Amino acid sequence: MDSKQFYINGAWVNPVEAKDFDVIDPSTEEVCDTISLGGQADTDAAVAAAKAAFIPWSQTPRAERVALLEKLLEIYNARSEDMAQAISKEMGAPQDLARAQQVGAGSWHLQGFLKAFETFEFEQKFTETERTLYEPIGVCALITPWNWPMNQIVLKAIPALATGCTMVLKPSEIAPLSGLLFADFIHEAGFPAGVFNMVNGDGAGVGSQLSTHPDVDMVSFTGSTRAGTAITKAAADTLKRVSLELGGKGANIIFADADADAVTRGAGRCFRNSGQSCNAPTRMLVERARYDEAVEQAAAAAEATRVGPASEEGKHIGPVVSELQFNKIQDLIKVGMEESRLVAGGLGRPDGLNRGYYVKPTVFADVTNDMVTAQTEIFGPVLSIIPFDTEEEAVAIANDTLYGLTNYVQSNDDEKRIRVARQLRSGMVETNGKGFAQGSPFGGYKQSGNGREGGVFGIHEFLEVKAVSGWPAE
Ligand code: NAD
Repeated sequence: MDSKQFYINGAWVNPVEAKDFDVIDPSTEEVCDTISLGGQADTDAAVAAAKAAFIPWSQTPRAERVALLEKLLEIYNARSEDMAQAISKEMGAPQDLARAQQVGAGSWHLQGFLKAFETFEFEQKFTETERTLYEPIGVCALITPWNWPMNQIVLKAIPALATGCTMVLKPSEIAPLSGLLFADFIHEAGFPAGVFNMVNGDGAGVGSQLSTHPDVDMVSFTGSTRAGTAITKAAADTLKRVSLELGGKGANIIFADADADAVTRGAGRCFRNSGQSCNAPTRMLVERARYDEAVEQAAAAAEATRVGPASEEGKHIGPVVSELQFNKIQDLIKVGMEESRLVAGGLGRPDGLNRGYYVKPTVFADVTNDMVTAQTEIFGPVLSIIPFDTEEEAVAIANDTLYGLTNYVQSNDDEKRIRVARQLRSGMVETNGKGFAQGSPFGGYKQSGNGREGGVFGIHEFLEVKAVSGWPAE
């Protein structure tokens, strides 16, 4: 594979105009590969291939598409180590995280879609003489971020393929190696030419070319709220469907009656993937009776979190993805030190790490919800702790944010936990550390977006709904 090529119409092709872009390994700050950033002519070629392939692909029998997706899953599993190494190198996930969670998320969702697809009814009886038909929307642009690269690509490409859509994927230019490898898996699986295309590029180039393209019917985007807004505006002139999975600033409400591990578990979830998760519980809201103890436990959890290179095995966290992110996080830590009480971590790299974008797991106490660190998605291993006195106050603080992706509630009182979950304005509420089932809907309220990914909900995203009357009686 030549990383500078794009995958268009079933073949690896050179960019129309060369525009090299270095991929930086965040553990070492060294260039680890070079890709090309596409231009309008590359975007047009990919969209044209997807458009030409749409009608025949949308009419293939379901069994044919299932067989290809099963083959893809087989290849994904067989080449999982290559994928883990690509992700580890491009965005700094340590070996264990890359293998188990980054790559694992892809196969988990792929299986979930296959399960949902098995029983999905594309033709439903509405009345005796009327049917509701679910049909693929058409040519889809899939624009993805760098933080959970394969998770995001699979959540878009698989339901698009399953429903009979065709597509152009534009992976993050910061972490494009996993996307290149995924295109190679598609090729090996034998999908027809033009069904899946991949063009590398940046947001201002290929990203906005896809968003404005008259032959693109839908943009499915995961990334920052900033880019989601830009894409929505860019897509408005052609009125294409825009499905958005954006940022978050999750609250983790810990009541005094929560289990003993709640604080340590919450801090661990905040630091996971070096804090680079849209659903990270970055605001820890603690009931006053447990507040002082929680601050100590969270600080201890931060100090016990080892930071190290992605090439190493073990349960440590890696660097953050780029110099840009590193500097942004340092600036926000500085602000946090001015506005609240630093109890762990702080500015600069952890001891012994002089090169690489490593950030100290950091905890701020005595934060109030109007502070910068409580309102900004920091996207680094930084936790803000906020005390509360009443249930009403906790709900009000949790909801006082632009975002609404995932909130968390910890309490052994079943009624209270569910009562609070109902009042939280977010697409997901995880309670007492219980993870979500395969195929459960992932998405946000408010400025966290408008889409739902995974399982049957994710399949619906890529479908149009058609009503047909005068259906012959059975
Ligand atoms: P980003 O928005 O900078 O980039 C994401 C993708 O969009 C990249 O492929 C980029 O090239 C492209 N892009 C950027 N500007 C664009 C534009 N104007 N038009 C078209 N495309 C454009 O985000 P990022 O830094 O890669 O990822 C981090 C962000 O993603 C965080 O805010 C995080 O919360 C969010 N995220 C959300 C979810 C979710 O499901 N809600 C999941 C993962 C990450």
